[in-house]
Amino acid sequence: MSTRQPELFASDAVEVPSMFCEVAVPLPLRQRLTYAVPAGMVRHVQPGVRVIVPVGNQRLVGYVMASSPHAPDDVPLARIRPLFHLLEAEPVFPDELLRFLREAADYYLHPLGEVLRTAAPAVERRKGEDPTKPDRPGAKKQSLKARWTRVHEEVYVRLGDGVDRATKLRGDKQSELFAILAARGEVSITELKQQLKNPRPAIDALHGKGLITLEAREVPDDPFFGAPVPRDTPPALTPAQTDAVEAITQAVTHGERANFLLHGVTGSGKTEVYLRAMAAAAAKGRSAVLMLPEIALTPQLVARYRARFGDNLAVLHSGLKDDERHAMWRKLHRGECHVAIGARSAVFAPVKDLGLILVDEEHDPSFKQDDHFRYHGRDMALLRAHRAGVPCVLGSATPSVETYHAAMEGRYRLLSLPDRATNAAMPSIEIVDLKRVGPRGPTGHELLSLPLVRALEATLKRKEQAILFLNRRGFAPSVRCPRCAVSLECPSCSVTLVLHRRASALRCHYCDFNAPFANACITCGCTELTLIGVGTEKLEHALVSSFPGARIGRLDRDVASGMGAEEVLDKLRRGDLDVLVGTQMVTKGHDIARVTLVGVIAADATLAFPDFRATERTFQLLSQVAGRAGRREFPGHVVIQTWQPEHPVLLRAKTHDYEGFYRDEVSARAELGYPPFGRLAALKLDAPDEAQLQRTAAQMDELLRATADVKSHTVKVLGPAPSPIEKLRNRYRMQFLLRCTERPPLRRVLHHLVEHLDTFTQHDVRVAIDVDPVNML
Ligand code: ADP
Ligand code: ZN
Repeated sequence: MSTRQPELFASDAVEVPSMFCEVAVPLPLRQRLTYAVPAGMVRHVQPGVRVIVPVGNQRLVGYVMASSPHAPDDVPLARIRPLFHLLEAEPVFPDELLRFLREAADYYLHPLGEVLRTAAPAVERRKGEDPTKPDRPGAKKQSLKARWTRVHEEVYVRLGDGVDRATKLRGDKQSELFAILAARGEVSITELKQQLKNPRPAIDALHGKGLITLEAREVPDDPFFGAPVPRDTPPALTPAQTDAVEAITQAVTHGERANFLLHGVTGSGKTEVYLRAMAAAAAKGRSAVLMLPEIALTPQLVARYRARFGDNLAVLHSGLKDDERHAMWRKLHRGECHVAIGARSAVFAPVKDLGLILVDEEHDPSFKQDDHFRYHGRDMALLRAHRAGVPCVLGSATPSVETYHAAMEGRYRLLSLPDRATNAAMPSIEIVDLKRVGPRGPTGHELLSLPLVRALEATLKRKEQAILFLNRRGFAPSVRCPRCAVSLECPSCSVTLVLHRRASALRCHYCDFNAPFANACITCGCTELTLIGVGTEKLEHALVSSFPGARIGRLDRDVASGMGAEEVLDKLRRGDLDVLVGTQMVTKGHDIARVTLVGVIAADATLAFPDFRATERTFQLLSQVAGRAGRREFPGHVVIQTWQPEHPVLLRAKTHDYEGFYRDEVSARAELGYPPFGRLAALKLDAPDEAQLQRTAAQMDELLRATADVKSHTVKVLGPAPSPIEKLRNRYRMQFLLRCTERPPLRRVLHHLVEHLDTFTQHDVRVAIDVDPVNML
């Protein structure tokens, strides 16, 4: 790198530059990069603007983080190179957001450049600008995209081949349009309409001159902005809603730094509280951001927000095309709309004058990002709101133990909605002991017990609807060869292959492995294979054959990527389905009057997870899915099948006793020193070579144990141990769990590790630091 220095100020200046800036680039670099600012740019260089800088022999887009008239002491002047140029004169990140991002990077000990890239995908992913394309787009994102895909025709405008970018044009509109195209390359007419008032005449004029070309292409619709939604009339609030809205509105109006926990049973009208609180912020000219789990972000739900806010709403979701995302980003950035809703990354919404952040279903584990920058959307919402000095509202029917604990300690103000808004009663819950009644009822199918079959029959007879929840998709979760005496495993992962019968395939649910299923063992050819367990596909089959007259539907990721989740749910809403079978996708948010029966096929599956939050997850899932039953005039009933009917968490769920569950759980956590009583960080290592991985883990262990806080037993180190899933995509995996009652000692140990990280990441070993981990697999 140093050999390139001499050309340094060749073009621009001979004397010492008058300004220096610190730049973050989208690379996993942990050191600061300092550049000299050429004289002509000094006026425009401010935190948040994008610049092109040299890094080694690459040119990268970076963000100015800070500027100063002084060069840093620790970098020799001769080694400081000038930045190449500015991408725009305005900061991409509002100051408030930029400072928050810096803190987020620090909290998670993650390279700042990568944090910025996570926060500004719309900006970074524009064509030709991202030299380090993220390599893992994430399976979930793709399936969501497919789930809502419908197409419409869109016209794209771009400069004609060989047109001189310096062409002089008559008329402001034309030159403005030309400048946009020269800078961006290609832009859709829809987006141009957002940037220029009535761009059509200018487009026609330039087209007539042969300067631009137009091309019509089919593009997928944004599912959330299809047909216009009529404005709704807000309902009169219930007394409990009124109290909650008043408390939050007060804090918004006075710009108070306050955290609220909105604890409301399913169907208690939390959404109406969010709507009012957001409207209150918007009325003050301030922005509100609402985050919710991606899976809950359905067109149905978004319509409720559109009906209230119309065009004053931006929806940030993973199905957006890049230029749509960019358009949303700009709308918010310019303060053209005040309300943003979206999944976890909405915590980075570049809103102007932030006034309020809300997190719906705050307990949901999907708020935690599980790769790259491993942030927790809810925790970051709290941090951002706190730093901005504005209120943060966390809402849930089943708050996380951490959140409820904070409310009990008085750190969050507790707002309760104890009853359903529609006056519907909570559903009755029946626990079916599979040991006693047997897993096979009158139909002979596994996991359709007698009480469940009777309940289904009664529901069908009343012409009402049922939802059956089972946490596994596919036909049979495991296929066993009696001759080899093993279950068929994925060749790249240490998990069993799942049989998908309709597709006649064996699939790994953790990687892309997919092999045709020829009804024979891959190893020995034996054809007497045993299918073990039940997945949603098998359950659907069992219902079709047991209830011939009934219309059965299925909703899981397999279906969602084909026919579309919304279509299945529409059918249920219209009454074209009698029974819907599905995975977690059926548990969230749906509000359908005729659904009166909910069946939980196997409550034991989540309880068995090797995770200290398994009990909590079970309680949450059971409460959520039970909350789908009997939301309106028809009373609801829930049947939970289990092999452990005496498990305390089932009894708490049966009586809708959140407080009881919380008391049980919090004392167990206190005993074990788990959150909220201890701070955790996981170190996750993986490598293609198992022996190398073990050597690296041993070295890391030595380093950790040599740190003062570990020596003094302030920080406990558990591990290294193989991860519960020992091999994933041909990489072996090990982990450490670090635990401490206070955060600072834990951070000291992690900082020490970060300083030596390079020594561990050789030989294709990867190390991820996961602060406040959620996924323990
Ligand atoms: P939650 O988000 O707490 O699960 P929702 O906001 O979906 O609950 O509300 C459940 C149902 O109650 C919805 O159909 C909603 O329209 C209705 N609802 C909410 N608030 C009121 C109210 N104040 N008066 C009448 N109906 C209401
Ligand atoms: Zn696999």
